[in-house]
Amino acid sequence: MNKETYSTSSGQAKICQNCNQDFTIEPEDFNFYEKIQVPAPTFCPECRLKRRFAWRNEHTLFKVKDNSSGKEIFAGFPPSSNLKIYDRDYWWSDAWDPMNYGRDYDFSRNFFEQFRDLIYEVPWSSKSVTNVKDSDYCDQAGYLKNCYLCFNGDYVEDSAYCVRCTKVKNSFDLTQSLEDELCYEGVAINGCYRTFFSQDCEGCNDVWFSKNLSGCSNCFGCSDLRSKSYYIFNKPYSKGSYKQKMEELGLDSWASLEKIKEEVSKHLLRFPVKYFHGIRAVNSSGDYLRNTKNARESFSLDDAQDVKYVQFAYLGTKDSYDYSVWGNSASQMYESLTCGEQCDSVKFCFDCWPSCRNLEYSICCHSSSDCFGCVGLKKKQYCIFNRQYSKEEYGLLREKIIQRMDQMPYKDKKGNIYKYGEFFPPEFSPFAYNESMLNDSYPLTKEEAIKAGYSWRDPELKEYEITLSVSAIPDSIKETSDDILKETIQCLVCKRAYRIIPNELSFLRSIGLAVPRLCVNCRLARRLSSINQPLYYRRRCQCFGQKSENGVYQNSVKHFHEAGGCPNEFETSYPPSGKEIVYCEQCYNSEVA
Ligand SMILES: [Zn+2]
Ligand SMILES: [Zn+2]
Ligand SMILES: [Zn+2]
Ligand SMILES: [Zn+2]
Repeated sequence: MNKETYSTSSGQAKICQNCNQDFTIEPEDFNFYEKIQVPAPTFCPECRLKRRFAWRNEHTLFKVKDNSSGKEIFAGFPPSSNLKIYDRDYWWSDAWDPMNYGRDYDFSRNFFEQFRDLIYEVPWSSKSVTNVKDSDYCDQAGYLKNCYLCFNGDYVEDSAYCVRCTKVKNSFDLTQSLEDELCYEGVAINGCYRTFFSQDCEGCNDVWFSKNLSGCSNCFGCSDLRSKSYYIFNKPYSKGSYKQKMEELGLDSWASLEKIKEEVSKHLLRFPVKYFHGIRAVNSSGDYLRNTKNARESFSLDDAQDVKYVQFAYLGTKDSYDYSVWGNSASQMYESLTCGEQCDSVKFCFDCWPSCRNLEYSICCHSSSDCFGCVGLKKKQYCIFNRQYSKEEYGLLREKIIQRMDQMPYKDKKGNIYKYGEFFPPEFSPFAYNESMLNDSYPLTKEEAIKAGYSWRDPELKEYEITLSVSAIPDSIKETSDDILKETIQCLVCKRAYRIIPNELSFLRSIGLAVPRLCVNCRLARRLSSINQPLYYRRRCQCFGQKSENGVYQNSVKHFHEAGGCPNEFETSYPPSGKEIVYCEQCYNSEVA
């Protein structure tokens, strides 16, 4: 590595080889690259993130053939991906040896193509789960108990349809939420109990259809409240009249629920939002940050320090760049995805955990260290292309391969050059655009995805025979009998099949809520669409004196900036095209705190 590359005292302007946009590498970035001994990136942060996201399916199980038994099983990979899949339990057994796929490095071919061969020859585990009990239909998760269709979660119990959740109990249909109990249809709700159809709430009890509440209880259709009780549409009520009003709403009826949702969403848009979601985010930038220190341009983190360009990492992440999904005491992670749990110094890897160290360009390796270009290894050290070497041989061969990667780079379909220092190209991924988490954060149409150079796979529609149309479900939960558990219902939106499970029905009955008419995927898509994308815009505060810029919100107190309007600017993930009234911290706190 050329030392002089790192001796710049100010940022270095670069042009992304993928999108041709300018990006800047800051001196602090060079310090990190030097410390972990990687060259400076050639893709901009957004293109790097998208390249990683193309490698992960977050919430879909596919029916595939188990290559060990020939039986049909559920896996996190589409059947047409051409991956070899072993059922998880068999994969983790000693019945097969991934080292049997070992091979010498061929210096006449480029690294990435050789690695691609290995990816599609070594079997992958049907699911990426650890320590799960009675949770067969879950994936990308750890420490689950009695869960159903939960994905990307840790420490979740007696719950279903939760995605990106940690420490959640007895809850259904939550997304990007932490430490909740008895909650339903929530997005970014944290430390909440009995909170329903709500978003961006912190430490709330018995809260319904609300947004941006903190420490509130018994509130309905409210925005921007702190430590309040018995409020409906932001107006105070007595305990008695609150209870009476709630009963009149008729939440047991699907028709009323739909009407309420519409009314509430109009009401909530009349209130300002803070430009940033998060609490205890010290010297941090990005969005959805909790308990972070020096987290830059990062998205959805809890407990992270000294990280940049990191997304969806929880339970402790330190000193990492360009790292997506997991955390759990991970440090010095770089350009890696779905790796975590006591991992350290993991670069250009996918699905490697736990306690991996000094891994590079590896996939589905576990409890291994000092490996390069390996797939499916368990408890190995000093391996290259699934072949065992001595420590000395490993060091020498690794150096030679890295040199060769620079001399003989891979050129992808778009003409991007892949030397040492790039993550795997999206075109090697087993997932089409619409199967990957790319489509969750950056939804595209089929045409748009194909135009952008991605593949697309239409989902199979007629997988299950429909036995019930939504119009035949009784409007009220009170009239819904156990028979619904036997039915295969057709989703109102996508027309695909879904079911109601016993836990879900008893939960809905205990709260008094109508059964959903949308399938799991459509419900999730609706929640995901209410989360901002990991993109940032430079914007000005929309407080224009006594009112918001659009004249909809009337300030309740005098702000620091007098009548002329707030001069504050910020980076926010709320796009200028959005409907929300976006306030700076000072103006927001004047109104809300
Ligand atoms: Zn780019
Ligand atoms: Zn649907
Ligand atoms: Zn302001
Ligand atoms: Zn203001």
